[in-house]
Amino acid sequence: MSPKELMISRYEAFVRKDWEYLSQTALHQSIEELSQPSNIEWLKLEVLDAYDNIVEFKAYYRESGIVGVLHERSTFLQVNGEWKYGDGELFKTKIERNEPCPCGSGRKFKRCCA
Ligand SMILES: [Zn+2]
Repeated sequence: MSPKELMISRYEAFVRKDWEYLSQTALHQSIEELSQPSNIEWLKLEVLDAYDNIVEFKAYYRESGIVGVLHERSTFLQVNGEWKYGDGELFKTKIERNEPCPCGSGRKFKRCCA
């Protein structure tokens, strides 16, 4: 699995709350830490860039009724031939008011979940 494929599989694991998989595929994430109660519902993933051991993505979510975006550049490291999630650098990115709403309604964000 490439870092990009691993990143996508980890997003899918977040959607189904598969803390065991997430912990196994990361260097520093314990099941206890990952499984903290939260109201987050993941809506959509966009992979923006992937090269070497770096994957940049936006993951859209709804938390307590508010729709937001997590924009991160993740670093993956190889351990015994397998890629693991190392850490990530976060960007302060907002959802543009005119972009398609991440909830998938087909309407502009400003006319939907903003
Ligand atoms: Zn919406």
